[in-house]
Formats: sequence, structure tokens, C-alpha cells
Amino acid sequence: MHEMSVALSVVDQVEQAARANGAQGVRQVGVDIGELAGVVPDSLAFCFELACAGTVLEGARLVMRSVPGRASCQPCGRTWDTGMPPDLVCAQCHSAATELLSGRELRITEVQWTTEADAPPPTPAGRSEEN
Ligand SMILES: [Zn+2]
Repeated sequence: MHEMSVALSVVDQVEQAARANGAQGVRQVGVDIGELAGVVPDSLAFCFELACAGTVLEGARLVMRSVPGRASCQPCGRTWDTGMPPDLVCAQCHSAATELLSGRELRITEVQWTTEADAPPPTPAGRSEEN
């Protein structure tokens, strides 16, 4: 499954960053997903949750942002939204010499670490309600 390998790759990258930063946990991971990247958001969310289990990312929220496909025509310079499935022929000059400007993204845009302040307060030791 494509989404599972994407999820594992995201988890792997965030885990490495967590180790490098000495982070306690991860609250939220933001990713940009190109319209043409072939990733189904619902499926990725499901796989992400599975991939996070037992790692420092356990319980982290995945925030996905869709990036629309954009193409530009080399001969005439027109740019347009490709849609999905992508329309890669220029409607103005009918050239197929087009360049994909965006829409294949699959990148982590932000990671929110959990900090000490998010942890539940430690139970006071050796204190009694009795006087
Ligand atoms: Zn054109």
C-alpha cells in the first residue's frame, strides 16, 4: 500500500528529529500532500495511526494540507490548475510541452513537540491530606 510506505517514511523522519531534539513526544505533524501525489488522505491518516503505535509519535495528530496541481505551458507561458486526473495539455495553444509546477509534494511542513508543560503534574510524594 502506497500510503503505508508514506506513513512509515513520515514517522521515521519525525522519530529521527525527535531523537536529535530530545523531544518527549509529538503532538501534531503537518504534511503537504500534492493533488497528484497519489495519496488518499483518509487512507494515509489510517496508516499514520498504525505507523505511530509504539513510537514517540504515538497519539500524534496528522494535519494534511492538499496542494493543488499546477502546470505551466512552455511555449505560451499559460499556467492552470491541472485537476485530477491531471490535464496536462495547454488549452490555449494545445501544446503538451508543459511543466508541472506543483502537485507532487509529499513533505512534512511542521512538527509540534510535546513539552514538559504538557505532561500531567507529578503526584506530590509524601504529602497527606491528614493533619
Ligand atoms: Zn500554451
